[in-house]
Amino acid sequence: MRVLVIGSGGREHALCWAISASPLLTKLWCAPGNPGIAQVAECVPIGVMDFSALVAFAQDNEIDLVVPGPEAPLVAGIADAMEAASIPCVGPSRQAAQLEGSKAFTKELCDAAGIPTAQWERFDDAEAAREFVRRRGAPLVVKADGLAAGKAVVVAATDDEAIAAIDAMMDARVFGEAGASVVIEECLQGEEVSLFALCDGTTALPFGAAQDHKRVGEGETGPNTGGMGAYSPTPSFPPALQDAVMDAIILPALTEMADRGTPFRGILYAGLMLTSQGVKLIEFNVRFGDPECQALMPRLMSDLLPALQAAYDGELTNFDVRWRDVASIAVVMAARGYPEAPERGSEIRGLDRAAAVPNVLVLHAGTEADADGHVRAVGGRVLNVCATGPNVQAARDAAYTAIGRIDWPEGFCRQDIGWRALGKGP
Ligand code: AMP
Repeated sequence: MRVLVIGSGGREHALCWAISASPLLTKLWCAPGNPGIAQVAECVPIGVMDFSALVAFAQDNEIDLVVPGPEAPLVAGIADAMEAASIPCVGPSRQAAQLEGSKAFTKELCDAAGIPTAQWERFDDAEAAREFVRRRGAPLVVKADGLAAGKAVVVAATDDEAIAAIDAMMDARVFGEAGASVVIEECLQGEEVSLFALCDGTTALPFGAAQDHKRVGEGETGPNTGGMGAYSPTPSFPPALQDAVMDAIILPALTEMADRGTPFRGILYAGLMLTSQGVKLIEFNVRFGDPECQALMPRLMSDLLPALQAAYDGELTNFDVRWRDVASIAVVMAARGYPEAPERGSEIRGLDRAAAVPNVLVLHAGTEADADGHVRAVGGRVLNVCATGPNVQAARDAAYTAIGRIDWPEGFCRQDIGWRALGKGP
């Protein structure tokens, strides 16, 4: 198979790493990729939103399967663009990607399909939203309806914080049109878990669960980020609970989408809150999580490529995948100043020595190679140091040993990834 992965982050490096091990693979490309991905795929300098160039490349190179990593091209319709050119693409259509593209769309679908989720209300008018906050009272969660790189969610402990969020999203439009309407939700309490399901339109195959660490600082402090680390499996989400969530959340969503004539194909990611009243959906995403994917792929024993092909073909009914019975962890190394203002351009050394630690995989997220071949940081989240082991402690020890070998004074990471699984308080 000739395969094209779209994206340039750690998630796409993990996907390319897994796909590159497939005996079915003839050649792997990644657009635009990064220097780490270049070790397992040929990188082509095409941006993830340049649909006409991506389609032309796929046609010229007779691509058998396109695998988009990030949400932005999916929500903008990359699967439809490929489909129009008769190129197989394993991802949801633009309409099905509304599950991530619009918070209100998902909340309405939850109500229609009986999926447990936080109580919610949608507002197109800022004053009506503020009035609702004054009437209901904090704590409340204010979300811009549209796609805004995961940052447009404010968990407001006070009325003033909620009103400030409405002012910023709806009046100042700090997230642009994504804030034209907002969803205001009941604030759920509990532990968060991410569940992934590979879907073919009608059938869903559980594809691993993981726990992410959203805050930049140790002990879950400081601003929210795209995620500072993840681990899998998660002791607080045993298999029986996963089965129950497949039945109560994933399958009803899939059935509702199919009934509406917009079947969902690809990876459906359910962000869950384990509340005292049972598991509730926080949100759907329409692709793998980053960094959860980096923690999941090293546990996947089966070949990823036929699983993705079966999802595209609508053939998951009798498909199964096996997972290695190991603990896996991904620790994010970020550039100093992340998330507000990450410093760019610093040189990273020692990556080969780090990767030589047994059971360690060093994935690139925000790196570039300079003219002399030196690896430099060009993003906020720059590296993902992943490790497996017989238990979380062993996996974590291996990951931090590898991090100790990376010579990058301008980078930092959290030292407490996996604390929940180790029973250590924040
Ligand atoms: P989202 O982009 O919807 O995943 O929200 C980002 C983060 O905000 C989630 O991972 C949760 O930590 C938090 N969050 C979102 N919705 C709620 C809610 N209804 N109650 C409590 N926390 C929430």
